[in-house]
Amino acid sequence: MYYTNIQVVLQEVPGEISICLSICGCKLHCKGCHSPMLWKEKHGKKLTSEFFKGLLKKYKGFASCILFMGGEWHETELINYLCLAKTEGYKTCLYSGEQHINKKILNHLTWVKTGRWISELGGLDIASTNQKFIHVQSNKLLNHLFFKNH
Ligand code: SF4
Repeated sequence: MYYTNIQVVLQEVPGEISICLSICGCKLHCKGCHSPMLWKEKHGKKLTSEFFKGLLKKYKGFASCILFMGGEWHETELINYLCLAKTEGYKTCLYSGEQHINKKILNHLTWVKTGRWISELGGLDIASTNQKFIHVQSNKLLNHLFFKNH
């Protein structure tokens, strides 16, 4: 599993300070993709358990959520990282372009974003979007949290 960058983000998961890892190898190739550098599998740096554990330690007490932008195509590896994050007390989120995410992965997520990027429909902050931001355990759709005046 390779990643291009790691950022602290405030808006992708409402109410949470998230450490966001962008994972390489997305096969969806959406038209107008914001990050085409993620299409190639071995771009960026290899993610290792040692590095990831260090990241969890570094941000513990500051960040509250670990967010993966993609990576569901590395199911076992992703689940391992989600387990490590949960063990350290983090909430977890996956942003995917897929419509459906395997239950094995969902079992380790607090939130999931599904749906590919379709520019005519817009993103999570627009009612017309095809994308869904869901609280996994309750299966509640939470897109309204992204609307400007919610
Ligand atoms: S799912 Fe995301 S990263 Fe993948 S092609 Fe679509 S917009 Fe780009």
